[in-house]
Amino acid sequence: MKNSLKEIFTGFNSLVTGMRITLGEFFKPIVTVQYPHESLKMPKRFRGHIELVRDPETGKAICFACKLCERACPSDCITVEGAKLDGAKKKSVTEYKLDFTKCSLCGSCVEACRDNAIRYTHQYNLASTNREDFIMDLFKRMEDDAKANPMPETPKPEVAPQPPANEAPKAEQPQPAAPAQPN
Ligand code: SF4
Ligand code: SF4
Repeated sequence: MKNSLKEIFTGFNSLVTGMRITLGEFFKPIVTVQYPHESLKMPKRFRGHIELVRDPETGKAICFACKLCERACPSDCITVEGAKLDGAKKKSVTEYKLDFTKCSLCGSCVEACRDNAIRYTHQYNLASTNREDFIMDLFKRMEDDAKANPMPETPKPEVAPQPPANEAPKAEQPQPAAPAQPN
């Protein structure tokens, strides 16, 4: 009898504990999304495959086919070609292929480009059973984008957070002196 009462009490106690946790979670904000009907906005620093950047003033590719990115790629997945257009001082890109099957998203190409002519996309829905879908013609892709949006959006300058007006900026902390080297 004593054991039965103890079991009833333990069962009731665990039921109340479970219901309390369930009710607590029930009223919290929902953090899941109904993928694939909904998708998350990728963070600014997310690395999707690369793409060509267009000049916000001319609407054309910034890339001038110097091939620095091609040489910097450790996986040999970039192919760039360019040509000098009539009257132009330097080349313009005419072909930019990316073999995304080999890309490790290491970022060497983006770092190598001194003119910020390539950047990461925020695309992650890239599943396919066809290998050819990952051999990307980034030049054609950029031209298609240019037809749809003749002028790209000018990226907004990043503004560093300012301290409140009544708060003096923090003075730089003095660095500790380096220890003397033995002779
Ligand atoms: S993306 Fe940059 S590094 Fe690569 S070819 Fe174009 S200008 Fe040169
Ligand atoms: S991210 Fe790395 S592996 Fe991918 S294309 Fe650029 S350099 Fe090559």
